[in-house]
Amino acid sequence: MKPIQIKVKNSFIKKYQKNYPLISKDEIANPQVLKEEGAIVHLLEPNGNFIAKGYYGRQNKGLGWVLTSNLGEKIDVIFFKKKISAAFDKRKSFFQDEHTNAFRVFNGEGDGIGGITIDYFDGYYLINWYSEGAYTFKETVIRVLDDMGDYKAIYEKKRFDTKGKYINDDDFVKGERGEFPIIVQENGINYAIYLNDGAMVGIFLDQRDVRRAIRDKYASGKNVLNTFSYTGAFSVAAALGGAAKTTSVDLAKRSKSKTIEQFSVNGIDFETQDIIVMDVFDYFRYAKRKNLTFDMVVLDPPSFARSKKRTFRTAKDYPELIMDAIEISEKGGIIVASTNNASFGMKKFKGFIDKGFKQSNSKYQILEEFSLPEDFHVDRSYPQGNYLKVVVLKKMN
Ligand code: SAH
Repeated sequence: MKPIQIKVKNSFIKKYQKNYPLISKDEIANPQVLKEEGAIVHLLEPNGNFIAKGYYGRQNKGLGWVLTSNLGEKIDVIFFKKKISAAFDKRKSFFQDEHTNAFRVFNGEGDGIGGITIDYFDGYYLINWYSEGAYTFKETVIRVLDDMGDYKAIYEKKRFDTKGKYINDDDFVKGERGEFPIIVQENGINYAIYLNDGAMVGIFLDQRDVRRAIRDKYASGKNVLNTFSYTGAFSVAAALGGAAKTTSVDLAKRSKSKTIEQFSVNGIDFETQDIIVMDVFDYFRYAKRKNLTFDMVVLDPPSFARSKKRTFRTAKDYPELIMDAIEISEKGGIIVASTNNASFGMKKFKGFIDKGFKQSNSKYQILEEFSLPEDFHVDRSYPQGNYLKVVVLKKMN
């Protein structure tokens, strides 16, 4: 098939010459020529000079991804093998780690192919496809994984609209079906993982370093509140780090049994912990009414959350969330403020935190900051790919 030619607008030529990987609609003069998902595209200057080649795959972030600036390089199984084996090489220390067997082996544009990520869970691969275009490379990617050595099975998540087409119910692709949950290790912590049960598998691998810090540095002796707790992964880390008690709060009903399970696979009696199914904002009100206070509060909301009563938008409402946490925190208490919203950077996030403290007439000290861990490799030309921002701070008064 002949490559589709798209023309980069003048003012953006430099950007793409400097290896910017995301093909953005506003920067292309003729986006209407892009029709067939997965098609190879050539990015050209208005005068026809070649800049780079990539593929068309529409996702909320853009129209596709640049793959190479080398005109002679074919986008074939050899190309994919080169990128995927380089990515595996970068994760050697993870493959060798005796206490961690769940990590990301391929991080989209950070490893040279946007729109595709591959996670490793103790011998199982989980591929995330972020567009129909990315999905057209399925056979190629699987062939490469087959070449990389033994594995138990491959699962996948199609993170794009499949418009009523065939949907693979349990996301199984190939190999020997797993019996879920499988129990993986992360820095010696056990986590129950389901690869066959919806988009979220049990833990978010990108918070590994934060979980370890909570366990090893911050949790000892503390009364911990974990908000937006999902399966309680932070609570488990805190309990293993010697927290006096943890309270996990999440709106989703199934978070309770999932959290019980995560405690149980670590030999912690869940009855010694509080696991509450409730809107976090209702819980804050409840805690204030009952004069409950905490030595550590974890805030890890989704970028956007709609509950019955309100809509929470991280990019607007984070200062208020901080204020809620301040109100129920002890003097000297720790607040772990986290967001995975890619639409703003660390500076703006710290601005939200600062605003919350100023409006509460409270003072704080930043103890530590986190962004994506090493296995979530970020492309130097695309720092926006480093979406995770976590600030550990101490409430001073
Ligand atoms: N902190 C978790 C991940 C959070 S995912 C971890 O590290 O594993 C976001 C969670 O927020 C989801 O489980 C969702 O059910 C929950 N959630 C969204 N809106 C909420 C609200 N208003 N109150 C409580 N939980 C909410």
